[in-house]
Amino acid sequence: MSFADLNLIPELQRAVADEGYSQPTPIQAKAIPAVLERRDIMGCAQTGTGKTAGFTLPMLQLLAPYANSSPSPARHPVRALVLTPTRELAAQVSDSIKAYGKFLKLRSTVVYGGVDMPPQTKILREGVDILVATPGRLLDHVQQKSVSLSQVEIVVMDEADRMLDMGFLPDIRRILALLPTQRQSLLFSATFSEEIKKLANQMLRSPTLIEVARRNAPADLVKHQVFETPASRKHAVLANLIRSREMKQVLVFLRMKRDCNKLARDLVRDGINATAIHSDRTQAEREQALSDFKEGRSTVLVATDIAARGIDIEELPFVINYELPYTPEDYVHRIGRTGRAGMPGEAISLVCPDEMRLLADIEKLLKRAIPRQSVEEGAADLAAEREYDRSRERRPRREEREQEPRRTAAPAAKPRPQLAADGFDFSKPYVPASGPATATPASAPVQRPRGNRPQAALLGGFVSRDKK
Ligand code: AMP
Repeated sequence: MSFADLNLIPELQRAVADEGYSQPTPIQAKAIPAVLERRDIMGCAQTGTGKTAGFTLPMLQLLAPYANSSPSPARHPVRALVLTPTRELAAQVSDSIKAYGKFLKLRSTVVYGGVDMPPQTKILREGVDILVATPGRLLDHVQQKSVSLSQVEIVVMDEADRMLDMGFLPDIRRILALLPTQRQSLLFSATFSEEIKKLANQMLRSPTLIEVARRNAPADLVKHQVFETPASRKHAVLANLIRSREMKQVLVFLRMKRDCNKLARDLVRDGINATAIHSDRTQAEREQALSDFKEGRSTVLVATDIAARGIDIEELPFVINYELPYTPEDYVHRIGRTGRAGMPGEAISLVCPDEMRLLADIEKLLKRAIPRQSVEEGAADLAAEREYDRSRERRPRREEREQEPRRTAAPAAKPRPQLAADGFDFSKPYVPASGPATATPASAPVQRPRGNRPQAALLGGFVSRDKK
């Protein structure tokens, strides 16, 4: 199938050709015709599936009749609104709109918090046809009367699950109340929690359901590996891994933003070029950290789950979970950063005894055990780690280092093909902890801050289907 088969107008076909896309991804093949028919959409898809073009291209086509080069703000009311949870995702969506819409005279802009309002206000007052926004900053602009949402025809909620996780529901409700009731609504979410279903019921009218697995399901391309290590050893193990595997670009995940800066600083002290990205940094600092990492000026980007959402790095070879996330779905989001664009990737988790239950949850979600080794088991790694520890006292001279045998791959892990950390049997189907008692593991259920969420779509487990 080609983009021409989807009845895209020539301006959009030229733009996608310029982007180098030869054919639509599965979500584009499904979403584009449905959006062009002005249907509401409930899309279950993650970043990496091509969903941005899936909603942006038909949105641009529906707005194309309004394209004009009049300087009058009245000729450019906001007709399409895209809401995203993070500034990074907002900026990426906005870039996509500009790229795909470059042959159309439609104005678009992006507004998010953490930067000055006046420049945004000026652009909004001049009139924009398409507005990408994070919810809080959009409401600030509404309050200042720099923008009116009374002529919105299409609203898109991107990564809706993450918006709810971040506590944006009250803001979203306020924004929806400002929109005309006659409108087209598109909701995209990586997961289908009860809250998302409730929001979808309120927001969408007989939506077309579109479910697609990741273009590259995590299980297919990503090699998972666990290093069992005491928490106190994690820093040394991490530094050793980066050096001994000669990693050039690695995204390291932590749970808490306050720990990101510290870890980045400690790595820099070890001579490893690291930088941190999290929501407490200014927008300029975040953009700088991201571009340093993307362009290879820093080897390590330390991030929280929220800060890393929407970050799109082609061919990222390594993701390291310095700490496991509290929800197994976040593990899938994290490793979704590697193994993209058909390239293999590695997801390495440093797991201390306290995290074994989190690991068991992840393995149940993946429906398989992750090969693991303790740092002590991996003799070569341990030796390398000891050497790393020594090297902190005395860095060997260059010629000494060059005589050392090069350590590349970690020694073969001891696979435990059938049993999870808590003894869960993978030959049985996965049922969330709230499911029937027969499918729950023998050990006590894990206490997690958030509820379980159905996840089959992330794992390529859904059969794609459209429902009208
Ligand atoms: P998204 O899921 O929207 O974040 O897109 C993920 C990546 O896929 C982006 O880098 C897009 O540029 C790329 N992409 C989107 N559509 C296509 C396509 N039809 N062919 C090839 N790459 C695409």
